[in-house]
Amino acid sequence: MSARILSGNAIRDQIYAELEGEIASLAAAGIKPGLAAVLVGDNPASKVYVNSKIAACGKLGLASFHITPPATISTAELLEVIEGLNARDDVDGILVQLPLPSQIDSKKVLEAVDPAKDVDGFHPMNVGHLVAGRPALVACTPAGVMEILRRSGVAIEGANAVVLGRSDIVGKPMALLLLHASATVTIAHSKTKDLKDVVKRADIVVAAIGRAAMVTTEYVRPGATVIDVGINRINDAKQAESFFANFPERLAEFQKKGMAIVGDVHPDVANVAGAFTPVPGGVGPLTIAMLMSNTVKAARLRRGARAPAAAASR
Ligand code: NAP
Repeated sequence: MSARILSGNAIRDQIYAELEGEIASLAAAGIKPGLAAVLVGDNPASKVYVNSKIAACGKLGLASFHITPPATISTAELLEVIEGLNARDDVDGILVQLPLPSQIDSKKVLEAVDPAKDVDGFHPMNVGHLVAGRPALVACTPAGVMEILRRSGVAIEGANAVVLGRSDIVGKPMALLLLHASATVTIAHSKTKDLKDVVKRADIVVAAIGRAAMVTTEYVRPGATVIDVGINRINDAKQAESFFANFPERLAEFQKKGMAIVGDVHPDVANVAGAFTPVPGGVGPLTIAMLMSNTVKAARLRRGARAPAAAASR
């Protein structure tokens, strides 16, 4: 393997260390940033995600509020929950864990979150700010990818960047952030023609498609930087054998656990890329770090003005 590994865990630790100072200065002004996590129902994957977000709050000394309405809740009832959180002064950030049950109008719920507390950056007002290039609260995963690129010294200005995937939560904000950083951006998706050729032109590839190991070595120009956003759980032994043929340790781990988490990028890409993010331990830790960063930022922007001693540089 020749590629440089861009470790999300190391960058997360840097960001946490920087946040500690800001959290301390807010504390000196009597402000403890607080995150409310709304987890509707009992989707096991969502539970894991929310628990890790709550754990990160505990690690950094932020307040957290775990709200767990039943899966049967109606849109109107959930809107009332959100209104209650909007009104609480000790709640600086509100995250509504997706996906929501099918009876819920998800867009309506996300639009009900006070934009000043929208730490996921999903509210149309925050999306509009991002489009206009004056972002306040930016979607956490794409913001985390930018931290990885910048802190790893990857040249973005003038680079050909291909964002694979056009979702509202990853692909679109990712493309906008790269564009604002002066990359030449192509957004590819399931209808893109000659996908391999398009991706192969990239200096920077960001894969966010939700297809296990789909981006093989044939998609990647030698030396390119490859950021793998995908999180896919695999249980199939044949799939594991083909993905991990050159990674006996990972295959052995799969055989022990009966499952593995793989990204959207094939592990063999490590032999072609110039730099890449591993899965796990790449983009995932940054998503949570940026959620913490957004919560602290939201507290400073909303409550800091009432306590000038807390004014910080971030
Ligand atoms: P999504 O909403 O399902 O969007 C997937 C996108 O990929 C769509 O734009 C789709 O194109 C495109 N796509 C699907 N199959 C394709 C194919 N064969 N060729 C080209 N494009 C294809 O997914 P998402 O929410 O953006 O998430 C993407 C991945 O990132 C998932 O694995 C998810 O688990 C992971 N994720 C990770 C984090 C993290 O913290 N690391 C955070 C969020 C998401 P169309 O629009 O044409 O359908």
